[in-house]
Amino acid sequence: MIINATTQVDAAFQRCILPSCGREYGLDEVLVGCSACGHLLDVVYDWDRTRPPRGLAELEARWARRDDPAAFSGVWRFHCLLPFAPIDQVVTIGEGQTLLQRSAGVADYVGLPSGELYLQYEGANPSGSFKDNGMAAAFTHARSIGACRAACASTGNTSASLAAFCSVTRLMKAVIFIGSGKISFGKLSQALDYGALTVQIAGDFDDAMLRVKQVTERLGIYLVNSVNPFRLEGQKTIMFRVLEALRWQVPDWIVVPGGNLGNSSAFGKAFYELRKLGLIDRMPRLAVINAAGANTLYELYENRKLRWNEGSVDTSLVKTYYDQLDAEQKRASTIASAIEINRPVNLYKCLRALECCDGVVREVTDQEILDAKAQVGAGGLGCEPASGASVAGAKKLRAEGVIAPNERVVCILTGHLLKDPKATVAYHTTDQEMFNQVLGQRGVRTASFANRAVAVPNDLDEIVKAIQLYS
Ligand SMILES: *Cc1c(COP(=O)(O)O)cnc(C)c1O
Ligand SMILES: [Zn+2]
Repeated sequence: MIINATTQVDAAFQRCILPSCGREYGLDEVLVGCSACGHLLDVVYDWDRTRPPRGLAELEARWARRDDPAAFSGVWRFHCLLPFAPIDQVVTIGEGQTLLQRSAGVADYVGLPSGELYLQYEGANPSGSFKDNGMAAAFTHARSIGACRAACASTGNTSASLAAFCSVTRLMKAVIFIGSGKISFGKLSQALDYGALTVQIAGDFDDAMLRVKQVTERLGIYLVNSVNPFRLEGQKTIMFRVLEALRWQVPDWIVVPGGNLGNSSAFGKAFYELRKLGLIDRMPRLAVINAAGANTLYELYENRKLRWNEGSVDTSLVKTYYDQLDAEQKRASTIASAIEINRPVNLYKCLRALECCDGVVREVTDQEILDAKAQVGAGGLGCEPASGASVAGAKKLRAEGVIAPNERVVCILTGHLLKDPKATVAYHTTDQEMFNQVLGQRGVRTASFANRAVAVPNDLDEIVKAIQLYS
């Protein structure tokens, strides 16, 4: 399928992120990196030719047209801010109907006034995680070049999203690469149920990622991991929806868990472009939160002071660190399986985002992640462990005074509570053995916010007594 050449498509292209290279590629080229220097690619727009929104009213107007699938989509509602394909060619399964929830309980936990802490709940996407935002964009690109098979390596949610898009749209067949043993059942069950070809590799996510790149190249399969620059275009819209919900008042902080660093990279690009287009007048600060057991970004950014430096980035720092990981045979390990990644593919894009949003990086332990996750659950919408990292990170930054007491903070809840029920049940359980097996071996000692089930004999009076005692 060939896209009709329209002004919108002509005005978009791909470009190497490294300013000193800057090589450009057409939209019809399927690449996972620059063929000249190997760095990642961006989708870039010539805004003078793409008809960007003249103001916010134009964006808001589309919100009212929910009978039009492209306007109903929380991604394509903002088509004018990611115009790489004609609007009548976009793919949607109804993604992005997500909400910004103000949470007094979580604000209290983090140490902020009750009005200032917001949770952007991306678990409400059709496949239960933010990945659907990116998949809508990647599928649109894949369709434009006529791809018939798509693959990804996944800690679970990318595969769930890919499988959902394949089964709903029937545009492509899904091939999914997962590491063994790590994927949570919630996510695996989606890939299987939606009918994706699922390849389980004896290795972890970093191994699966390497293999999927090799296999897709050899077999000409379309790769939908976040090395795909089109995915990140879709993920920009998470920030557009946050701004929309805040009536385009830029918050002080965006706090997001960091795995492959696609989200943080996309968020930085979103704000950079909005500023350039004059749709916002200041940038929020960005906080990326690693799990302590998968803390490459934290180690490189905060300890070894790796910086983007407007593109003059010291790649030898990264190489040295990765060699060290190999020498020590260090593997990523955290209960937050969605961010259990030691070689984040979007590292350099994320460094650029941190530079443009005056960013910080923190690491949080599995204990902190699970406690924060329990607070998110108690405050309303639950989330999976990786998402809890954003709240745990916000709490840490508030305690350090990096986040000031009166600042407005948006934490991204990246995935649905039901993605990983085992972690949740183990936290709340009275079964010490289960607790130890699932959490204890990860250094989790306490479940301070556990809501324990009350065991009662099968006897009416006993049941009544228990309810009166505990309620
Ligand atoms: C993929 C994923 C992440 C990691 O996001 P990156 O963009 O890779 O940093 C975090 N949380 C959840 C639930 C995910 O599915
Ligand atoms: Zn290049």
